[in-house]
Amino acid sequence: MEPTATDPVMGIDLGTTNSLIAIADASGPRILARESGTDLVPSVVRYGPEGVEAVGRSAADALRDHPERTVYSFKRFMGRTLADRETEAEAASYRVVEGPRGLAVVDVAGRTRTPQEISADLLRHLKEEASAILGVDVRRAVVTVPAYFDDAQRQATRDAGRLAGLEVLRILNEPTAAALAYGIGGGRKAETIVVFDLGGGTFDVTVLEVMPPESEDEESIFRVLSTAGDSRLGGDDFDRVLVRDLDEELRGSDLEGIDLAHRRALLRVVGERAKIALGESDATRLVVDGAGLLPDVDRMLTREGFEADAKPLVDRTLELCAAAIRDAGIEASAIDRVVLVGGSTRMPMIRQAVETWFGRPAYSALDPDRVVAMGAAVQGAILSGVRRDALLLDVVPLSLGLETAGGAVAKLVMKNTTVPVRATEMFSTSVDGQMNVALHVLQGEREMAEHCRSLARFELRGLPPMPAGIPQIEVEFQVDANGVLGVEAVERRSGRRARVQVVPSHGLTREEVDRIEEESFEHAREDMLVHRVVDLAVNAALDVKWIGEALSRVREELEASIVERVESCMVEVRGLIDASREDPRKVDAEAFHAAKERLDRESVPVHEAAIARSLRDSPPEGGPGGSTAGS
Ligand code: ADP
Ligand code: MG
Repeated sequence: MEPTATDPVMGIDLGTTNSLIAIADASGPRILARESGTDLVPSVVRYGPEGVEAVGRSAADALRDHPERTVYSFKRFMGRTLADRETEAEAASYRVVEGPRGLAVVDVAGRTRTPQEISADLLRHLKEEASAILGVDVRRAVVTVPAYFDDAQRQATRDAGRLAGLEVLRILNEPTAAALAYGIGGGRKAETIVVFDLGGGTFDVTVLEVMPPESEDEESIFRVLSTAGDSRLGGDDFDRVLVRDLDEELRGSDLEGIDLAHRRALLRVVGERAKIALGESDATRLVVDGAGLLPDVDRMLTREGFEADAKPLVDRTLELCAAAIRDAGIEASAIDRVVLVGGSTRMPMIRQAVETWFGRPAYSALDPDRVVAMGAAVQGAILSGVRRDALLLDVVPLSLGLETAGGAVAKLVMKNTTVPVRATEMFSTSVDGQMNVALHVLQGEREMAEHCRSLARFELRGLPPMPAGIPQIEVEFQVDANGVLGVEAVERRSGRRARVQVVPSHGLTREEVDRIEEESFEHAREDMLVHRVVDLAVNAALDVKWIGEALSRVREELEASIVERVESCMVEVRGLIDASREDPRKVDAEAFHAAKERLDRESVPVHEAAIARSLRDSPPEGGPGGSTAGS
């Protein structure tokens, strides 16, 4: 862990729905939060007679109790006239009125406040949070805005920062920030990228061109080629799709004592919860406890139904992508990468639609609702002179691999390989009828998973049941020019696939890389032996299983002495397998290898008899596979 700079520059994503703060040092960007789960700060401020009463989560949670005093989505009014934002003003539960020069201002708790002032109250809260977490007074920031913001809107954002006592070093475009978080622009060649940002209430798509820096002390240049979007299309619309018919039903029923706004707010919460649940499972129960004021609701929702109902929304985002590409004056084939931004891109239907439409995997390794703040922090670090050049990013700094059964590591990409690089390896299962395979992506030079850095875990699910060792799982590692790692696993027979994406260089400094390297030298011999024993145990377990099965079928056809010899070999090998599982360090690899060879040799007649037998009975299925993954 690096000590915090005395005058750090934080990155702030000042979002319509949520805001957050991040900081970057030599080990890369990270989000700041006092405790986990509180890093997304709802962009909501409540006012009372004394001024600010609550900011963030507490204000958002009590929105239903104080609708007229709680201001949200104020980013929509930044630097705009009321005439411009009539529809938004009417939809708000607080009062938006006309201020000087026709500008939209909020009339709340007895006085008018400009969107800048309200933003400043939120920024002040973020500044205090950051200072408390880092233990230094944070005064400088990079603040992000949508790429389409005009000068008035950018100026309003700057003013908000100044009012909050912040020195805003730069106003940065949100899509540019997302690209920076992924290290785009750090490479040697120009790239064209599309940033697809589906937030809470807005959708923006931006086509960016990135030019690499001409010399060491220059920054990359990001140029916006085009933007398109819809300021009334976002995650909220997906929530509404789920509760649309409920809304109608409830409206029709006799509901005294509960007003429409309350009901809507309640439905929104329920709808959002169901939406998030449907991203993780195929169906979810939607329950509304009406508490006597509303009819109780309890029904099942399916992902399939949700996706069908939400299709028009998804199609609309794709139409806007087409428009942006057209306006940029380029062909879709000229696009090098697609980056996903905004909490709503977590929905599987969005990711699938985008990847299908663009015909390529999209960048999603970083949390889509945190990536903008992380990029702002990267920009902040560049401006304050923190440099990452100690870490050579045109090579893979540490080896990348996968945990295999028994806890060893199969390395697919060796350290210091130049990027981009692609590597594949075949794996199989270690348990009969295994339907899910856990994959664990690791980074490091040691031979055992426990000594490596865990990068990601994911699951290949829904394999048809097959005997252990039969599934053919092809795993591909791909590190692109920006150092982003994509891992994909495909089971060949069933075609089931799963994938994950990570940025392996985040959280690593040059010093750490050196330390990890040194450790691996120290343990090289011991590690190699342990790895060998673990692999032997895994392969021997499969051998013992197959031989045992074959033996039970053909035992009476074999001479008793052969059976006896095979069985005694099996006892010995089983003992070694158990010992290796207990502690592989205590097992002699050479002795284990010899015992396994003996078993293989002695069991040849068993296999021959079994093959002859199955030729007589029915055609055989499959055969032994390669090494095995997961458990
Ligand atoms: P903004 O940029 O507008 O401030 P965010 O990027 O924070 O907004 O996105 C907020 C939206 O993301 C909300 O509509 C929220 O419901 C949605 N969201 C967050 N997590 C998920 C998820 N796991 N699945 C679907 N939607 C999500
Ligand atoms: Mg956003």
